[in-house]
Amino acid sequence: MRRVAVLGATGSIGASALDVIARHPGRLHASVLVAGRNVEALADLCARFRPEHAAIANPACFGALRDALRARGLATQAHAGDDAIDALAAGDACDTVVAAIVGAAGLSSTLAAVRAGKRIALANKESLVMAGELVMAAARASDACIVPVDSEHNAIFQCLPAQGDRGARDVSGLRRLVLTASGGPFRGRTRESLREVTPEQAIAHPRWSMGPKISVDSASLMNKGLEVIEAHHLFGVAADRIDVLVHPQSLVHSLVEFVDGSTLAQLGLPDMRTALAVGLGWPDRIESGVGGLDLVAQGGRLDFEPPDLEAFPCLRLAFAALRAGGDAPAVLNAANEAAVEAFLARRVGFLDIASLVESALAARGGEAGDLDALRRADARAREHVADAIARAA
Ligand code: NAD
Ligand code: MG
Repeated sequence: MRRVAVLGATGSIGASALDVIARHPGRLHASVLVAGRNVEALADLCARFRPEHAAIANPACFGALRDALRARGLATQAHAGDDAIDALAAGDACDTVVAAIVGAAGLSSTLAAVRAGKRIALANKESLVMAGELVMAAARASDACIVPVDSEHNAIFQCLPAQGDRGARDVSGLRRLVLTASGGPFRGRTRESLREVTPEQAIAHPRWSMGPKISVDSASLMNKGLEVIEAHHLFGVAADRIDVLVHPQSLVHSLVEFVDGSTLAQLGLPDMRTALAVGLGWPDRIESGVGGLDLVAQGGRLDFEPPDLEAFPCLRLAFAALRAGGDAPAVLNAANEAAVEAFLARRVGFLDIASLVESALAARGGEAGDLDALRRADARAREHVADAIARAA
């Protein structure tokens, strides 16, 4: 029996992961559930999945969580705070961790699970963008098995041959990786026409149903930029061998081109439960609840076009940050998180997201090194964005 900690259980990926887990009562058990601050939603999930432990990130919510579990007559033990979450991710209550907290807030628990040598079904791409070298080095040291569940990286994981049995991939025959992108809700639009778009328009993704932050990232193409950096770390492939291809149907989840001219791709309906079933079941194939792909019923065609870096400069900024190295990816990620939060709160416009990230990158210190240095770079970038917004107001 695989005992699974679902970090970010109340979110979009959390719901998909729990849906897959519920299909395999003899094989998968949700032993730990973790959420940010929604106590009632977390307690309801506990009533359904009966985990041994539940944790809420906000320490002020501890009493409310304990009471909500008690009110439901559950034996689930309540915990609160980031340290408790890290301890649960690393501890004996689970052997597998679905890392699906949104943003840099997911780094600490991801790293704790990696250092403890767990199976990690990794959705939290921001932890790799911020500290990819450290996370991958920790995985090599602990023999942790990282199975990416971001759909593109999950596709590449499936297409590349294995190197050993701990999730690592063999890239010796690889020419390039091609990440597909849906193009988001604003595909085909000019930069100028995006000046007045609203958070509602940005979140209305044509193909995927996701949390608000990643939905905005998809609309700006920053999501694809973060994914280029994620792919670089996961598979050890340099920036100039990673390409992005817009594919509006979101049926081809990414492609892998080998030196002999062969290209392999993974296809499927746009439903994250497939990638989560791979993350939870690998090397076995397990039911996910996702139907097969009927290409005729899906419109009978697959379209591809290059990304428009003029209209969507975030993708260009992410490539530049990856090439610059040091603290640049951490700064890119933190500035983007702060800018997206401000956009969702209607304090800045859509085009300001890219400008704020660009300005934070121009102001960065440059040093990288250890985790503390990356956390300082992250904090400085958030301050830089807050100051820039305050000055403009
Ligand atoms: P979401 O907003 O729907 O859910 C986020 C979850 O994180 C919630 O359970 C929330 O309670 C929890 N959370 C937030 N802050 C926290 C904190 N400080 N401590 C503990 N928990 C916290 O987001 P989502 O769409 O599920 O995305 C989650 C992650 O998965 C992101 O990193 C995203 O990039 C990645 N991802 C998502 C999708 C998708 O289809 N939704 C696809 C690929 C990758
Ligand atoms: Mg993705």
